[in-house]
Amino acid sequence: MTFQDTDKATSDLDNLWKRFCNELTIRIGDDPVRTWFHSLRPIRLDPVREQFVIAVPGAFHLEWLQSHYVEPVTECAQRVLGNGFATVFEVGSGDWHKSNSPELTEAKRNSEPTISAITAKPPVKRATVQSLKIDPDFCFETFVAGEENRLPRSAAMAVAQSPGGNRFNPLLIHGGVGLGKTHLLHAIANLSMQTMENCHPVLTNAEQFTSDFIRAVQHDKKLDFADQYGDSDILLVDDVQFFMGREQTQRQFFHTFNTLINAGKQIVMTSDRTPKELDGLEERLRSRFSQGLVVEVMPPEYETRVAILRVWAERDGVKLPVEVEDFLAAHITSNVRNLRGAVIRLLAIASLEMSELSVAVARRTLHDLLSKPQIAVTVDRIIEIVSRYYRLAPELFSSKSRKQPLAEARMIVMALSCELTGLSLAAIGARLGGRDHTTILHGRETIREKAEHDPEFNRLLEQFKREAEHGITI
Ligand code: ADP
Ligand code: MG
Repeated sequence: MTFQDTDKATSDLDNLWKRFCNELTIRIGDDPVRTWFHSLRPIRLDPVREQFVIAVPGAFHLEWLQSHYVEPVTECAQRVLGNGFATVFEVGSGDWHKSNSPELTEAKRNSEPTISAITAKPPVKRATVQSLKIDPDFCFETFVAGEENRLPRSAAMAVAQSPGGNRFNPLLIHGGVGLGKTHLLHAIANLSMQTMENCHPVLTNAEQFTSDFIRAVQHDKKLDFADQYGDSDILLVDDVQFFMGREQTQRQFFHTFNTLINAGKQIVMTSDRTPKELDGLEERLRSRFSQGLVVEVMPPEYETRVAILRVWAERDGVKLPVEVEDFLAAHITSNVRNLRGAVIRLLAIASLEMSELSVAVARRTLHDLLSKPQIAVTVDRIIEIVSRYYRLAPELFSSKSRKQPLAEARMIVMALSCELTGLSLAAIGARLGGRDHTTILHGRETIREKAEHDPEFNRLLEQFKREAEHGITI
């Protein structure tokens, strides 16, 4: 090494030391840095052992540093030097001769220098994959399962309680959109962390996995990639159908999958279709998916939908009137996501308009979400339902009689026919014994008015409508 090289190395070391002390001042303040660090001297930077070696005047000084400043020193060294370097403090090192500290004299008296590492070498950090955020609201307490979803729920709970150590590995949850697959995945992550200390679930989805993989390829860390998931006790992968057609990623996923399963780790996946229907996915991947447990989430039944609405109402701190609850559960049948969307919209509109939560508001604002009638509603069908309720013969509805309760029941048929059949007033009149369109209009208005003032009556009308449209018997 030439004189100049040595000189340069010293000035590099001094610069490093200055930067280190500046960082430290930001962390712990001026006074402690002046008291405990200004009398230290940087000795060398050892790139082979990855050590930053600093001379300390005496044993007491070293002890004090060790008991008070390990954490900030480690952190600041990492900032200045990057990951991987350990900071090593040496007492009685040869370079110390520039100092006049009295402690030095004491240290020098020790013939052998005491060497002590104050900071353990920080582990070289691999860019381990990040879990997507786990939503604490998506837990088992808020997942309502009727008979139809008992199996997926219990399988998910079993997995969360003993990840890897059960027969359900991998667990594949499949089913239509908005039926709670993602919710269950988060619930597993949440419960596993509650059940086991230090449990580290990693939640991802096919999109995220793919983009992590592409990043790994770009940085040429492909081989490490499976290892990056090695820290996770449970790997939860949402929407694996998005792997279809991505061959490279599939191959990598297969590799990761095998590594984890062989290490006794748990894998849970969701998909919007069965493994069989996942065409565009390698056969060996599909067959591995099927080796554990495959469960399907089903659309909830009417009763479950009501129960879900009640759980939400409690969580949202609102009270849904029974008839609104009934209306939503009866009309929003497609999936739970739409049901949730409907509740949120309804609450928003009711609060904006400062109106009551009512069936009328729900009908008006949610029309795009309401399930299309499963049964074509005809005047005859309405007569059949209303006549059954009032125990009247259906033929009487076309008669001239104005006796009660027939007259009112007939007006109900008029009102419901206007609302549900799409027929003109005249056509409805024709079906009801050739009545005039003004009679139908009058009947409809009378019923509307009564419903506005009489909630019980309104509820009855809603039940009729539900039965007419969805065949749900009262
Ligand atoms: P998927 O992933 O199957 O498309 P999500 O899990 O995203 O569906 O569910 C959509 C919404 O419906 C979420 O707000 C979720 O909390 C809710 N949800 C679905 N199923 C249920 C259920 N059984 N109980 C309570 N909430 C549910
Ligand atoms: Mg989902």
